[in-house]
Amino acid sequence: MILGKPKPRRERPAPKRVSRGAWITAKAQAIVKRGPYCETCKTEYATDGHHCLIPFQKRYAEYLDHEINLELACHYDHMTGDLDTYEHRKEFYLRQVARYGKQAVDAWIESLPEKLKISHRLDFMEAK
Ligand SMILES: [Zn+2]
Repeated sequence: MILGKPKPRRERPAPKRVSRGAWITAKAQAIVKRGPYCETCKTEYATDGHHCLIPFQKRYAEYLDHEINLELACHYDHMTGDLDTYEHRKEFYLRQVARYGKQAVDAWIESLPEKLKISHRLDFMEAK
């Protein structure tokens, strides 16, 4: 039996490493500013950071790992899915406006790539 050369293994690009340091910093800053509790139940410690206004997508981590997009949550409330509804996102938007000012919140949203802005309902920005 004649064996040929082994087929070369297909080169795969190394997985892109995404630094999440900004998210850790954002969580720490949010805890200093808002306190250590879950923003939903207000009784459990905030163990999680929820990407509230725009859901997390790894390829956009550098944009989405931001304090304005961060809602402090306990693991239980984070896992229910209740934080993902449009109504909740709108309520969180207004909460962030009260904390950071409408100008800062809207400037962050405006700075996002077009693809993120068109694929998520953001009409609560118009709400009064
Ligand atoms: Zn909670």
